[in-house]
Amino acid sequence: MDTILVVNAGSSSVKFQIFAIDGEGRLRRQIKGQMDGIGSRPRLRASGANGDPMADRAYPIEAVPDIPAAMAVAGEWLRDELRITPMAVGHRVVHGGPDYDRPVLVDHGVVARLERFAALAPLHQPHNLAPIRSLLANFPALPQVACFDTAFHRTHSAVADHYAIPHQLHAEGVRRYGFHGLSYEYIAKTLPQVAPDIAKGRVIVAHLGSGASMCALRDGHSVESTMGFTALDGLPMGTRPGQIDPGVVLYLIAEKGMSASNVQSFLYRDCGLKGLSGVSNDMRELEASADGNAKLAIDYFVYRIGLNAGMLAAALQGLDAFVFTAGIGENSISIRSRIAEVLGWLGVTLDPAENARHAPLISRPDSRIPVYVVPTDEELMIAQHTLTLLMNTPSSNPNHERVS
Ligand code: ADP
Repeated sequence: MDTILVVNAGSSSVKFQIFAIDGEGRLRRQIKGQMDGIGSRPRLRASGANGDPMADRAYPIEAVPDIPAAMAVAGEWLRDELRITPMAVGHRVVHGGPDYDRPVLVDHGVVARLERFAALAPLHQPHNLAPIRSLLANFPALPQVACFDTAFHRTHSAVADHYAIPHQLHAEGVRRYGFHGLSYEYIAKTLPQVAPDIAKGRVIVAHLGSGASMCALRDGHSVESTMGFTALDGLPMGTRPGQIDPGVVLYLIAEKGMSASNVQSFLYRDCGLKGLSGVSNDMRELEASADGNAKLAIDYFVYRIGLNAGMLAAALQGLDAFVFTAGIGENSISIRSRIAEVLGWLGVTLDPAENARHAPLISRPDSRIPVYVVPTDEELMIAQHTLTLLMNTPSSNPNHERVS
């Protein structure tokens, strides 16, 4: 059976999934795996579609020093032990820059363009591109598709895309891109099935995971996002502060003597729920904690979601529905309930019983704004894009060479 490999590479891990394509061209998830501890304590773990374990192996550090080596180990496992040779690979790439408003079939020219955007996402883009480059070198005829977190937001108006800074910087790429686009695109594509009445309306989607943002959808298209130039802006997150006065950054530099890389590391790793609580970046641990600062961090998270919902409702000039997704949004009964309270003025009334059983529709029938929980699936979105691009690009020649 034909399969598609989906790859999401980070600084120390490569997550991968295998999707099988059935006779009708539908995708079915077969394997979820990850190679983590790259360069420190490498470990390959994988499970089947039902969560049944398939592999859990440790490797010596010198066997998996970097992302290309991790790809090679995972590829050998798929090919030699499972006899799986994907017909194409779809990659999550955080930044498509101003150019890419949709996924793209990768060649050397595309990789060169994407490398230019590394300056816009230095902590993510180089890691996302590493497996693409190594597969391109080892399997030049294997179709690879890059799917971007920014692409779904390229429909934003000029006022939503700009900062109030001189034009030259906008031309260079200093824009309000928005991220989590693959998640929002999946939700937008799923809404016509789960909530046909509101799919064409004005919807706020809250992607609340370790990274968190919200997106304003009109008729299934993104019109505004809480994230901007980088994934630091907007809502507070596990370890990122969300919206912060740039004056704070100036203070850190001028008064604390912090370098650009110190500030970068501070903003990406030491702030957000972790920094404010001093307890944890993990919402489950904060909810279980009796520490007063853990409570403050949760209060702040909920408060900022309420403020940003008001902003997005203004961008949409009204609101027809609210959707929760990602780790916190899909799983935390109490956070959903707290957020619904701060959205009360917009016309939200939650049904506590439906919320407690994680129903798809968790608002009361008389709630003016219906509230949904829609599990996201960014990997399926990438697999779908990869398949679509393959089918619509005759020259991509999917059966010519297979990954190993
Ligand atoms: P990412 O994919 O960005 O790493 P996830 O979407 O998996 O993040 O979300 C991770 C977050 O979801 C963590 O803060 C975690 O605590 C939270 N989370 C997961 N399950 C629950 C739960 N049952 N209750 C509260 N928070 C949860």
